[in-house]
Amino acid sequence: MIVEGAVFDSEGARRAYVRFRRGRVVEVGTPGTDSRRGRERRVHGIVVPRPVNSHTHLGDAAAAREPPHVPVVELVGPGGFKFRVLAETPARQKEAAMRRALRRMVAEGVAAVADFREEGVPGVAALRRAARGLPIRVLAFGRPVRRPIDGAELSSLLRAADGIGVSSAREEGAAERRTLAAACRRAGKRFALHASEEVRESVDAYLDPRPDLLVHLTQASPDDLAAVATARVPVATCLRSNALFHRSPDLAAFERAGVRLLVGTDNAMLNAPSVFRELEFAYLESRYRDRSPSTDYLARAAFVEPWRWLDEPGRARVRGGTSATTLAFRLPADDPAYQLVTRATEQLIVPTTAP
Ligand SMILES: [Zn+2]
Repeated sequence: MIVEGAVFDSEGARRAYVRFRRGRVVEVGTPGTDSRRGRERRVHGIVVPRPVNSHTHLGDAAAAREPPHVPVVELVGPGGFKFRVLAETPARQKEAAMRRALRRMVAEGVAAVADFREEGVPGVAALRRAARGLPIRVLAFGRPVRRPIDGAELSSLLRAADGIGVSSAREEGAAERRTLAAACRRAGKRFALHASEEVRESVDAYLDPRPDLLVHLTQASPDDLAAVATARVPVATCLRSNALFHRSPDLAAFERAGVRLLVGTDNAMLNAPSVFRELEFAYLESRYRDRSPSTDYLARAAFVEPWRWLDEPGRARVRGGTSATTLAFRLPADDPAYQLVTRATEQLIVPTTAP
Protein backbone atom coordinates (compact mmCIF):
# COMPACT_ATOMS: atom_id res chain seq x y z
CA MET A 1 0.00 0.00 0.00
CA ILE A 2 0.98 3.62 -0.52
CA VAL A 3 0.64 6.55 1.87
CA GLU A 4 0.74 9.69 -0.20
CA GLY A 5 1.03 13.16 1.27
CA ALA A 6 3.97 14.15 3.40
CA VAL A 7 6.92 12.85 5.35
CA PHE A 8 8.16 14.48 8.55
CA ASP A 9 11.54 13.25 9.81
CA SER A 10 15.10 14.35 10.64
CA GLU A 11 15.33 15.91 7.18
CA GLY A 12 12.28 18.09 7.90
CA ALA A 13 8.84 18.08 6.28
CA ARG A 14 8.31 17.43 2.59
CA ARG A 15 5.70 16.26 0.08
CA ALA A 16 6.23 12.57 -0.49
CA TYR A 17 4.71 9.16 -0.94
CA VAL A 18 5.82 6.10 1.02
CA ARG A 19 5.17 2.58 -0.23
CA PHE A 20 4.81 -0.13 2.42
CA ARG A 21 4.95 -3.89 2.17
CA ARG A 22 4.13 -5.89 5.28
CA GLY A 23 4.99 -2.89 7.44
CA ARG A 24 8.30 -2.37 5.69
CA VAL A 25 9.10 0.86 3.85
CA VAL A 26 10.09 -0.20 0.33
CA GLU A 27 9.97 3.07 -1.57
CA VAL A 28 9.96 6.80 -0.79
CA GLY A 29 9.65 9.50 -3.41
CA THR A 30 7.89 12.54 -4.80
CA PRO A 31 4.09 12.13 -5.11
CA GLY A 32 3.01 10.87 -8.51
CA THR A 33 6.30 9.13 -9.29
CA ASP A 34 5.76 5.77 -7.57
CA SER A 35 6.50 2.57 -9.43
CA ARG A 36 2.94 1.18 -8.98
CA ARG A 37 1.23 3.88 -11.11
CA GLY A 38 -2.20 3.54 -9.53
CA ARG A 39 -2.16 -0.25 -9.21
CA GLU A 40 -1.89 -0.19 -5.45
CA ARG A 41 -4.22 0.97 -2.71
CA ARG A 42 -3.33 4.43 -1.49
CA VAL A 43 -4.38 6.62 1.38
CA HIS A 44 -3.59 10.26 2.04
CA GLY A 45 -1.48 10.86 5.09
CA ILE A 46 1.74 11.77 6.87
CA VAL A 47 4.57 9.31 7.58
CA VAL A 48 6.86 9.87 10.57
CA PRO A 49 9.45 8.00 12.65
CA ARG A 50 7.81 6.34 15.66
CA PRO A 51 7.52 8.63 18.69
CA VAL A 52 9.33 8.19 21.99
CA ASN A 53 7.95 9.06 25.43
CA SER A 54 11.14 10.46 26.97
CA HIS A 55 10.05 10.76 30.61
CA THR A 56 7.57 8.79 32.70
CA HIS A 57 7.08 7.43 36.21
CA LEU A 58 4.88 4.45 35.37
CA GLY A 59 5.12 2.98 38.87
CA ASP A 60 2.41 5.29 40.19
CA ALA A 61 -0.07 4.36 37.42
CA ALA A 62 -1.84 2.34 40.14
CA ALA A 63 -3.25 5.56 41.66
CA ALA A 64 -6.32 6.05 39.53
CA ARG A 65 -8.30 8.72 41.42
CA GLU A 66 -7.99 12.46 40.97
CA PRO A 67 -4.77 13.55 42.70
CA PRO A 68 -5.32 15.77 45.76
CA HIS A 69 -4.95 19.54 45.32
CA VAL A 70 -1.78 19.93 47.37
CA PRO A 71 1.69 21.42 46.70
CA VAL A 72 4.10 19.40 44.60
CA VAL A 73 6.22 18.18 47.55
CA GLU A 74 3.16 16.77 49.30
CA LEU A 75 2.14 15.02 46.09
CA VAL A 76 5.36 13.58 44.65
CA GLY A 77 8.06 14.57 47.19
CA PRO A 78 9.70 12.15 49.67
CA GLY A 79 7.07 10.71 52.03
CA GLY A 80 4.29 12.38 50.03
CA PHE A 81 1.13 11.01 48.37
CA LYS A 82 2.96 9.21 45.56
CA PHE A 83 5.41 7.38 47.82
CA ARG A 84 2.54 6.36 50.12
CA VAL A 85 0.74 4.95 47.07
CA LEU A 86 3.89 3.07 46.01
CA ALA A 87 4.39 1.69 49.52
CA GLU A 88 0.75 0.71 50.09
CA THR A 89 -0.08 -0.83 46.70
CA PRO A 90 0.66 -4.57 46.40
CA ALA A 91 3.49 -5.34 43.94
CA ARG A 92 1.22 -7.32 41.61
CA GLN A 93 -1.22 -4.42 41.32
CA LYS A 94 1.58 -1.95 40.52
CA GLU A 95 2.94 -4.28 37.86
CA ALA A 96 -0.49 -4.66 36.24
CA ALA A 97 -0.96 -0.89 36.21
CA MET A 98 2.45 -0.38 34.57
CA ARG A 99 1.56 -2.98 31.94
CA ARG A 100 -1.72 -1.16 31.15
CA ALA A 101 0.21 2.11 30.77
CA LEU A 102 2.73 0.44 28.45
CA ARG A 103 -0.06 -1.10 26.36
CA ARG A 104 -1.59 2.33 25.93
CA MET A 105 1.72 3.61 24.56
CA VAL A 106 1.95 0.63 22.21
CA ALA A 107 -1.52 1.53 20.88
CA GLU A 108 -0.19 5.02 20.08
CA GLY A 109 2.71 3.54 18.12
CA VAL A 110 5.28 4.67 20.72
CA ALA A 111 8.53 2.77 20.08
CA ALA A 112 10.38 3.52 23.31
CA VAL A 113 9.84 4.99 26.75
CA ALA A 114 12.37 6.32 29.28
CA ASP A 115 11.02 5.63 32.76
CA PHE A 116 12.32 6.86 36.12
CA ARG A 117 11.65 3.84 38.30
CA GLU A 118 11.61 4.30 42.05
CA GLU A 119 12.01 1.49 44.59
CA GLY A 120 15.56 0.40 43.74
CA VAL A 121 16.40 -2.95 42.12
CA PRO A 122 12.97 -4.53 42.81
CA GLY A 123 11.34 -1.49 41.15
CA VAL A 124 13.31 -2.01 37.93
CA ALA A 125 12.65 -5.77 38.01
CA ALA A 126 8.90 -5.10 38.30
CA LEU A 127 9.00 -2.75 35.31
CA ARG A 128 10.85 -5.38 33.25
CA ARG A 129 8.20 -7.97 34.15
CA ALA A 130 5.42 -5.52 33.27
CA ALA A 131 6.97 -4.95 29.82
CA ARG A 132 7.57 -8.61 29.00
CA GLY A 133 6.51 -9.46 25.44
CA LEU A 134 5.27 -5.97 24.57
CA PRO A 135 6.57 -4.32 21.37
CA ILE A 136 8.03 -1.27 23.14
CA ARG A 137 11.58 -0.62 24.26
CA VAL A 138 11.70 0.31 27.93
CA LEU A 139 14.68 2.32 29.13
CA ALA A 140 14.61 1.93 32.90
CA PHE A 141 16.33 4.65 34.93
CA GLY A 142 16.61 3.12 38.39
CA ARG A 143 17.14 4.89 41.69
CA PRO A 144 19.27 3.38 44.47
CA VAL A 145 17.41 3.53 47.78
CA ARG A 146 20.27 3.17 50.30
CA ARG A 147 22.14 6.22 51.62
CA PRO A 148 25.09 6.49 51.88
CA ILE A 149 25.32 4.88 48.46
CA ASP A 150 25.90 1.16 48.74
CA GLY A 151 28.28 -0.24 46.13
CA ALA A 152 26.56 -3.63 45.98
CA GLU A 153 23.11 -2.10 45.48
CA LEU A 154 24.46 0.25 42.81
CA SER A 155 26.11 -2.58 40.83
CA SER A 156 23.01 -4.74 40.85
CA LEU A 157 20.88 -1.74 39.90
CA LEU A 158 23.16 -1.00 36.94
CA ARG A 159 22.98 -4.62 35.83
CA ALA A 160 19.18 -4.43 35.76
CA ALA A 161 18.66 -0.84 34.53
CA ASP A 162 19.62 1.25 31.50
CA GLY A 163 20.80 4.04 33.76
CA ILE A 164 20.20 6.01 36.93
CA GLY A 165 17.54 8.71 37.26
CA VAL A 166 17.74 10.79 40.42
CA SER A 167 15.34 13.21 41.97
CA SER A 168 17.35 16.45 41.68
CA ALA A 169 20.67 18.14 42.43
CA ARG A 170 19.05 19.61 45.56
CA GLU A 171 18.21 16.20 46.94
CA GLU A 172 21.40 14.40 45.86
CA GLY A 173 24.64 16.14 46.82
CA ALA A 174 27.56 16.65 44.44
CA ALA A 175 29.47 13.69 45.91
CA GLU A 176 26.52 11.30 45.41
CA ARG A 177 25.89 12.57 41.87
CA ARG A 178 29.54 12.07 40.95
CA THR A 179 29.55 8.54 42.33
CA LEU A 180 26.37 7.65 40.46
CA ALA A 181 27.40 9.28 37.19
CA ALA A 182 30.86 7.67 37.27
CA ALA A 183 29.29 4.25 37.90
CA CYS A 184 26.94 4.82 34.92
CA ARG A 185 29.89 5.73 32.68
CA ARG A 186 31.81 2.63 33.70
CA ALA A 187 28.80 0.44 32.99
CA GLY A 188 28.02 2.18 29.68
CA LYS A 189 24.67 3.38 31.08
CA ARG A 190 22.96 6.78 31.20
CA PHE A 191 22.72 9.28 34.06
CA ALA A 192 19.67 11.56 34.27
CA LEU A 193 18.01 13.93 36.73
CA HIS A 194 15.15 16.37 37.24
CA ALA A 195 16.34 19.98 37.31
CA SER A 196 14.88 23.39 38.20
CA GLU A 197 11.38 22.02 38.51
CA GLU A 198 10.05 23.64 41.67
CA VAL A 199 12.67 26.34 42.21
CA ARG A 200 15.56 27.50 40.10
CA GLU A 201 18.67 25.44 40.77
CA SER A 202 22.25 26.31 39.85
CA VAL A 203 23.01 25.25 36.29
CA ASP A 204 26.60 24.53 37.40
CA ALA A 205 25.24 22.00 39.88
CA TYR A 206 22.97 20.03 37.56
CA LEU A 207 25.47 20.06 34.69
CA ASP A 208 28.25 18.71 36.95
CA PRO A 209 28.74 15.86 36.40
CA ARG A 210 27.32 16.17 32.89
CA PRO A 211 24.04 14.23 32.73
CA ASP A 212 22.74 12.42 29.64
CA LEU A 213 19.26 13.83 30.20
CA LEU A 214 17.60 16.62 32.17
CA VAL A 215 13.89 16.76 32.98
CA HIS A 216 11.69 19.88 33.31
CA LEU A 217 13.81 23.08 33.62
CA THR A 218 10.56 24.94 34.33
CA GLN A 219 12.41 27.63 36.33
CA ALA A 220 15.54 27.94 34.17
CA SER A 221 16.72 31.42 33.16
CA PRO A 222 17.76 32.25 29.57
CA ASP A 223 21.41 31.95 30.68
CA ASP A 224 20.73 28.52 32.18
CA LEU A 225 19.11 27.40 28.92
CA ALA A 226 22.10 28.69 26.94
CA ALA A 227 24.47 26.68 29.18
CA VAL A 228 22.34 23.53 28.76
CA ALA A 229 22.27 24.03 24.99
CA THR A 230 26.06 24.49 24.90
CA ALA A 231 26.52 21.31 26.95
CA ARG A 232 24.26 19.58 24.39
CA VAL A 233 22.26 17.85 27.13
CA PRO A 234 18.72 17.06 25.95
CA VAL A 235 15.79 18.20 28.10
CA ALA A 236 12.53 16.27 28.47
CA THR A 237 9.60 18.62 28.99
CA CYS A 238 6.30 17.52 30.57
CA LEU A 239 3.96 20.48 30.28
CA ARG A 240 0.78 18.84 31.56
CA SER A 241 2.51 17.76 34.76
CA ASN A 242 4.01 21.25 35.18
CA ALA A 243 0.59 22.85 34.66
CA LEU A 244 -0.86 20.90 37.60
CA PHE A 245 1.59 22.77 39.82
CA HIS A 246 1.06 26.18 38.18
CA ARG A 247 4.34 26.00 36.30
CA SER A 248 4.99 26.70 32.69
CA PRO A 249 8.36 26.38 30.97
CA ASP A 250 8.87 28.89 28.17
CA LEU A 251 9.45 26.54 25.25
CA ALA A 252 9.92 29.44 22.84
CA ALA A 253 12.97 30.41 24.95
CA PHE A 254 14.14 26.77 24.84
CA GLU A 255 13.97 26.89 21.06
CA ARG A 256 15.74 30.27 20.83
CA ALA A 257 18.53 28.96 23.08
CA GLY A 258 18.93 25.87 20.88
CA VAL A 259 18.00 23.35 23.60
CA ARG A 260 17.57 19.79 22.33
CA LEU A 261 13.97 19.14 23.36
CA LEU A 262 12.32 15.82 24.14
CA VAL A 263 8.78 15.26 25.39
CA GLY A 264 7.59 13.15 28.30
CA THR A 265 4.36 12.57 30.19
CA ASP A 266 5.79 12.35 33.76
CA ASN A 267 3.81 10.64 36.55
CA ALA A 268 1.21 8.21 35.27
CA MET A 269 -0.98 9.00 38.28
CA LEU A 270 -1.22 12.62 37.10
CA ASN A 271 -1.58 12.25 33.34
CA ALA A 272 -2.24 9.47 30.85
CA PRO A 273 1.03 8.48 29.19
CA SER A 274 -0.06 9.89 25.83
CA VAL A 275 2.57 11.67 23.75
CA PHE A 276 -0.18 13.03 21.49
CA ARG A 277 -2.07 14.67 24.36
CA GLU A 278 1.19 16.09 25.63
CA LEU A 279 2.03 17.64 22.25
CA GLU A 280 -1.40 19.18 21.85
CA PHE A 281 -1.31 20.61 25.36
CA ALA A 282 2.21 22.00 24.81
CA TYR A 283 1.01 23.71 21.65
CA LEU A 284 -2.12 25.22 23.20
CA GLU A 285 -0.58 26.21 26.51
CA SER A 286 2.35 27.96 24.81
CA ARG A 287 0.02 29.70 22.44
CA TYR A 288 -2.28 30.77 25.28
CA ARG A 289 0.72 32.42 26.92
CA ASP A 290 1.71 34.05 23.64
CA ARG A 291 5.15 32.49 23.51
CA SER A 292 4.85 29.65 21.05
CA PRO A 293 7.76 27.56 19.92
CA SER A 294 7.49 26.44 16.29
CA THR A 295 5.35 23.36 15.65
CA ASP A 296 8.44 21.93 13.97
CA TYR A 297 10.34 22.15 17.30
CA LEU A 298 7.51 20.38 19.17
CA ALA A 299 7.08 17.64 16.57
CA ARG A 300 10.83 16.98 16.48
CA ALA A 301 10.78 16.59 20.29
CA ALA A 302 8.52 13.54 19.95
CA PHE A 303 9.53 11.98 16.62
CA VAL A 304 13.13 12.98 15.82
CA GLU A 305 15.29 14.21 18.71
CA PRO A 306 14.86 11.12 20.93
CA TRP A 307 16.47 8.92 18.28
CA ARG A 308 19.53 11.17 18.23
CA TRP A 309 19.58 10.99 22.03
CA LEU A 310 19.41 7.18 21.87
CA ASP A 311 22.27 7.11 19.34
CA GLU A 312 20.03 5.70 16.65
CA PRO A 313 19.81 8.62 14.20
CA GLY A 314 18.87 6.19 11.42
CA ARG A 315 15.51 5.67 13.12
CA ALA A 316 14.73 9.37 12.79
CA ARG A 317 14.64 8.98 8.99
CA VAL A 318 11.82 7.65 6.81
CA ARG A 319 13.61 5.74 4.07
CA GLY A 320 13.40 2.51 2.09
CA GLY A 321 14.51 -0.76 3.65
CA THR A 322 13.35 -0.03 7.18
CA SER A 323 10.75 -2.03 9.03
CA ALA A 324 8.48 -1.22 11.96
CA THR A 325 10.26 2.08 12.52
CA THR A 326 7.69 4.41 11.02
CA LEU A 327 4.11 5.40 11.64
CA ALA A 328 1.55 6.68 9.14
CA PHE A 329 -1.38 8.93 10.07
CA ARG A 330 -4.49 9.65 8.04
CA LEU A 331 -3.92 13.42 8.21
CA PRO A 332 -3.84 16.22 5.62
CA ALA A 333 -0.40 16.78 4.13
CA ASP A 334 -0.55 20.56 4.57
CA ASP A 335 1.70 21.84 7.33
CA PRO A 336 2.72 18.38 8.61
CA ALA A 337 4.30 19.50 11.92
CA TYR A 338 1.13 21.37 12.86
CA GLN A 339 -1.03 18.36 11.97
CA LEU A 340 1.14 16.03 14.05
CA VAL A 341 1.25 18.31 17.08
CA THR A 342 -2.45 19.21 17.22
CA ARG A 343 -4.29 16.34 15.56
CA ALA A 344 -2.43 13.04 15.75
CA THR A 345 -4.26 10.28 17.67
CA GLU A 346 -4.05 6.51 17.68
CA GLN A 347 -7.40 6.32 15.81
CA LEU A 348 -5.74 7.91 12.77
CA ILE A 349 -2.86 5.43 12.54
CA VAL A 350 -2.90 3.70 9.14
CA PRO A 351 -2.23 -0.06 9.34
CA THR A 352 0.68 -0.68 6.98
CA THR A 353 1.29 -4.34 7.64
CA ALA A 354 -0.79 -5.66 4.71
CA PRO A 355 1.15 -7.42 1.93
ZN1 LIG B 1 9.77 13.05 36.68
